Amino acid sequence: MDWQSAYYGNYDPNDTDEAKILRDIAVPCRLCEAAFRRLRLTLRFCATCHHGFCEGEHLNFAAGGRGRCVLDGPKPV
Ligand SMILES: [Zn+2]
Ligand SMILES: [Zn+2]
Repeated sequence: MDWQSAYYGNYDPNDTDEAKILRDIAVPCRLCEAAFRRLRLTLRFCATCHHGFCEGEHLNFAAGGRGRCVLDGPKPV
């Protein structure tokens, strides 16, 4: 993985984390950043809110392979 091309800025609604990740640009987990002031780069994103989240801790793939962050919660599509 090429961390040199990672994006370290804030979430940009005009160029979402999802859009960046689809271009192979890693983004910070937005929850690690907000809750712990911790930088943890990820190439996973929430399909609901399009923010980047670290897999496992703040994102799960229980819903048919589409990532859903803990903020959007486990609810039916
Ligand atoms: Zn996280
Ligand atoms: Zn979400």
